[in-house]
Amino acid sequence: MLRTLLIITVCLTSYADCLAADYGKTTAHRIADGVYLFTTTPYADVGFCGNAVAIVGGDGVLVFDSGSTPETAQNILAEIRKLTDKPVRYLVNSHWHWDHWGGNQVFLEANPRLQIISHAKNMEMMSTVEPRWNEHGLKEDLPQFLDDFEKQVAAAKAKGVPDERTKSAEQRLAVGRNFLKQKQSLRKTLPNVTFSDSITLYMGGREIRVLHARAITPGDTYIYLPAEKILVTGDILLDPYPYAIGGTYPAEWLATLKQFAAMKPAWVIPGHGEAQQGDALVRANIQLFEAVLARVKDAKTTGLNEAQAIEAAGKQASELGALVGVKDAAGAEAFKGYFLDVFVKRALREMNAPLGDLPDGLPGTQ
Ligand SMILES: [Zn+2]
Repeated sequence: MLRTLLIITVCLTSYADCLAADYGKTTAHRIADGVYLFTTTPYADVGFCGNAVAIVGGDGVLVFDSGSTPETAQNILAEIRKLTDKPVRYLVNSHWHWDHWGGNQVFLEANPRLQIISHAKNMEMMSTVEPRWNEHGLKEDLPQFLDDFEKQVAAAKAKGVPDERTKSAEQRLAVGRNFLKQKQSLRKTLPNVTFSDSITLYMGGREIRVLHARAITPGDTYIYLPAEKILVTGDILLDPYPYAIGGTYPAEWLATLKQFAAMKPAWVIPGHGEAQQGDALVRANIQLFEAVLARVKDAKTTGLNEAQAIEAAGKQASELGALVGVKDAAGAEAFKGYFLDVFVKRALREMNAPLGDLPDGLPGTQ
């Protein structure tokens, strides 16, 4: 099995619909004056890319997250260069998951005086936990997956499967090979500025608050522009539904969402997916978290064990997923796997004892 962050994503439409040009493609979106979101489509079957955001200030640019690979970061930087010639002075990393800081080196190469800012706990997780989390997938699972994929394509061609389908599979294979090459060759570039509570930057009169929460990871770093009421959340919020594999701190995550709601944001830019006006995404997630936590509390009261609590909540995956817009059975299944099962488990544990920093499933841990 590929480890969590090397998720195999299966193209839900036909092979022919998934053109190579759509894989790992970065698109710029203007959110407000001097605030841009860069979304990147998945790398075919082998990985996702977190959103990046650029905020143009008086004398430079702040970038929030650097994408999954150096190549994607180059594309993001090229898009920024179309918008402004001001240097990128700050790069903020939201958390340790590799789809959010794999492009750090590109921004440091472009400006050797770059300040890479993140919470001190992220620095620790990036240098100690991230390698352990991804190493096996990078060295063994992903190469094996690609070798098997290559064999399947060769076998399909030998059997006379139409060229149109094998060509598309070959394109996806090439995207996978390139992704692996990018991940294997990148130079891990850690933050050079850490904080423990918050940092406020003033860029030509633009106030940018860099803040900390313990939500999906222990070091979640997010930013808020108070004048514009723009909230950039990293993976504390995702569109379409939250992702909880590995870590998550259910009670503090919910408390963070309530803080977000209190900010009454005009725009919310999640860690994946499109930017949204208003706080609807925040409110939907609060509803979901409260509903799940109520079920976990009931499970604890009735004495269910972890597996039973997960099973009981899982039966309501469609109903719970619908709170954040999950519409069909396939979506509910994914929602259950990526969020519900882990969240329920962590929430139940949290009701019994404080959660530690290490994610569940980390090799070498229980
Ligand atoms: Zn992510």
